[in-house]
Amino acid sequence: MITLRSPREIEKLRAANRIVAAVLRHLRGLVAPGVNTAELDREAEAMIRDQGAEPAFKGYAGFPASICASVNEVIVHGIPSRRVVLREGDIISIDVGTRCDGYYGDAAITVPVGDISAEAERLMTVTRDSLMAGIDAVSPGEHLFTVSHRIQEHVERHGYSVVRDFVGHGIGTQLHEPPQVPNYGKPHTGMRLKAGMVIAIEPMVNIGTCEVDILADGWTAVTRDRKLSAHFEHTIAITEQGPDILSQ
Ligand code: MG
Repeated sequence: MITLRSPREIEKLRAANRIVAAVLRHLRGLVAPGVNTAELDREAEAMIRDQGAEPAFKGYAGFPASICASVNEVIVHGIPSRRVVLREGDIISIDVGTRCDGYYGDAAITVPVGDISAEAERLMTVTRDSLMAGIDAVSPGEHLFTVSHRIQEHVERHGYSVVRDFVGHGIGTQLHEPPQVPNYGKPHTGMRLKAGMVIAIEPMVNIGTCEVDILADGWTAVTRDRKLSAHFEHTIAITEQGPDILSQ
């Protein structure tokens, strides 16, 4: 069942998501060659707890860290580690979740490490723009999969592929709530969006195949062809006036 959130609840979700946005901004500034992803995780956890919130991912289904740090061919769910040291030319997707006063925040960005290839830059731009194309389609009465389709259409028009194995989601008093929000779909199908719904939209976009492998740690999702992948996510409240991006 999809819970519609009151204006008071949406403000609580905004508070949780503002912390996520602040942490992402901070981590973006720390990303540099020589930094390892465990350092980013430590910084994020300290900052989240400082703001009176909790890291939502830590312990979620047994996930061992506060952020997901997914470098290059890692699509999502990369586990921060001292052994993963960023190098010039890498891209890193950072996903942050918080729980604050019973409500969740969730957002992700992909960040360049130093100078990156033109292709990596283009992948990041197309992925970010596909998220914005999806958000632009959000309005009360619109079909959910029209939003999904806009994302897919933007990505495929640029020659990249959309990951099917992971999807966006409703978010509220749980990190993952219905509905699922795929990044592909048939326009004018699916449920109709309503004011008060809150969803996380999160396209994962690959340069090559959309096929996914999960590594032996049970978490790390990589592209089967080991080509680059990018990930951007926002949490959005649907209002009578349209989308309200809570994670900015
Ligand atoms: Mg999410």
